[in-house]
Amino acid sequence: NEPGYGQASEDIASPKRTKELMQKYGFVLKKSLGQNFLIDQNVLHNIVSAAELDETKGALEIGPGIGALTQQLAKRAGKVVAVEIDQRLLPMLEETLAPYPQAEVVHGDVLKVDLQALFKDKFQDVSKVSVVANLPYYVTTPILMKLLEERLPLENIVVMIQKEVAERMAAKPGGKEYGSLSIAVQYYCEPEVVAIVPQTVFIPQPNVDSAVIKLKVREKPAVEVEDEAFFFDVMQASFVQRRKTIYNNLAAKYFDKESKPDLERLLLDAGIAPSRRGETLSIEEYAKLSHRLADYLKTARTAK
Ligand code: SAM
Repeated sequence: NEPGYGQASEDIASPKRTKELMQKYGFVLKKSLGQNFLIDQNVLHNIVSAAELDETKGALEIGPGIGALTQQLAKRAGKVVAVEIDQRLLPMLEETLAPYPQAEVVHGDVLKVDLQALFKDKFQDVSKVSVVANLPYYVTTPILMKLLEERLPLENIVVMIQKEVAERMAAKPGGKEYGSLSIAVQYYCEPEVVAIVPQTVFIPQPNVDSAVIKLKVREKPAVEVEDEAFFFDVMQASFVQRRKTIYNNLAAKYFDKESKPDLERLLLDAGIAPSRRGETLSIEEYAKLSHRLADYLKTARTAK
């Protein structure tokens, strides 16, 4: 298991080296932390190239593990900050990242870390920052929603996630994968599934299929909405019962028996047939619908 083409002698990503390092430190993988380490140099290369890094840019990695991806990020980016929750990995990271002074490890739970402060503190000297990670699958959505909702100044988010979740994020209206996750992600980003990845590139192998997704963060959200929270409420309400029509879902949340006919008119005025299902509406239609519904509810409340 000598290093292959393009692999440096200190690169940790091979089955043999990963196992040796774990043995040396007596490290036992924790399933509950989503610890599936990458052992394939080509997959690492694909992830890193999708992020479009160079020495003027920074990378935030979530969950460096033993540093296989971190090493490759450090070869490209000017600065790498890797947030790792598992203290037992810190001495191992110290060893694997020793040749890369531009890589820094922060011990903590990414869901609790103050990322705004971290950005100000660590990324002052780079022009743009991307998130690049092989995410712990048990917290994929909370992590991504935190990154997006906090409006961090990000260029790209390139992450390994469960294939099924990647497909939902990138789904277009009309299919069964399309739902509130697709709309929430597409509101902030342009998604692209970069690669479908076999289970064999991980130690241990996860029991689900994986994919690398690239989310190009938009400078402005995909649609303009007056009240973002209400837009997300309306959209989520429309998917509460997927098999029901948009009319039935919205009626249940916002209307009573007397006011229900107003909903039918409101939908028709917005150019949306009341018999459609939530999964057929585009993000633009949700924006239009939430404007009209907000106006209607304001007027109805004032009239009461
Ligand atoms: N980047 C490494 C690789 O590709 O080989 C490891 C990826 S592994 C799928 C996920 C990593 O995230 C693990 O190292 C795990 O300890 C870490 N992790 C899990 N939950 C975390 C959290 N809430 N905050 C930070 N790191 C976390």
